Amino acid sequence: MSSSTTTTTRTDPSRREMLAALGIGAAALAGVRGAAGQTTMPQPASASPMTPQDLGWDPQTDRYILPPLPYPYDALEPYIDTQTMQLHHDKHHAGYVRGLNASLDALDEMRTARRGVGETKHWSRQLAFNGSGHFLHVIFWNCMGPNGAGMPRGLIAERIDRDFGSFKQFRQHFETAARSVEGSGWAILVLEPTSQRLMVMQAEKHQNLTAWGVVPLLAIDVWEHAYYLKYQNRRTEYVSAFMNIINWDFVQRKLSGLIEAFSPKR
Ligand code: MN
Repeated sequence: MSSSTTTTTRTDPSRREMLAALGIGAAALAGVRGAAGQTTMPQPASASPMTPQDLGWDPQTDRYILPPLPYPYDALEPYIDTQTMQLHHDKHHAGYVRGLNASLDALDEMRTARRGVGETKHWSRQLAFNGSGHFLHVIFWNCMGPNGAGMPRGLIAERIDRDFGSFKQFRQHFETAARSVEGSGWAILVLEPTSQRLMVMQAEKHQNLTAWGVVPLLAIDVWEHAYYLKYQNRRTEYVSAFMNIINWDFVQRKLSGLIEAFSPKR
């Protein structure tokens, strides 16, 4: 058997990296392996591959787009109400997509027109705000689901135990981070790819307080627009409710894909 016939069944490495970077687990294409090569739990049949459009980017036009919600507006009732989901997805998230495309257009135009420092600063800030807003909302919609299992399984469960001590300690840390964000922001479970460590971070607005290099796996939006209609000022209740609808299979696939993409190559 020639080497060319064996390689035809493998996904091109650059494509695997691209898919993983987009949040599409390369593991979904190649079977799920942990960092040390251990086999973890098989993925459920529902774990269909995500397209770039599902993740908020259209390769045909090279524009960012508002991805469809991965479930109906009322799917997260009673934890998150239908009207909040409609406004949040159709109005708020759509605004970040527009702002992100507009920022890139303005920066393109500036490079050709050689315009001033002030505009560069303005549009760089717009890019950071709207870009982070778009990318985090994509994670947010996908890391929730009507059939939230309640508890992580497989590699993500192992890594949570390793890096936080236990799921209970992780949950307490994550909820406390979410409750205590000053003003509008997020609590985010991230992977730091070099050490493959999981960390919980806070974000103010969308873009402040990050550590460059980390990749979000799970994010809760604690802007008032995410919960005020149902929970009013009771952010703590909303954060608690969110824990019941986490789609841990999505978090698991994203973690596996990233670990594979960031592993040293031969
Ligand atoms: Mn939001």
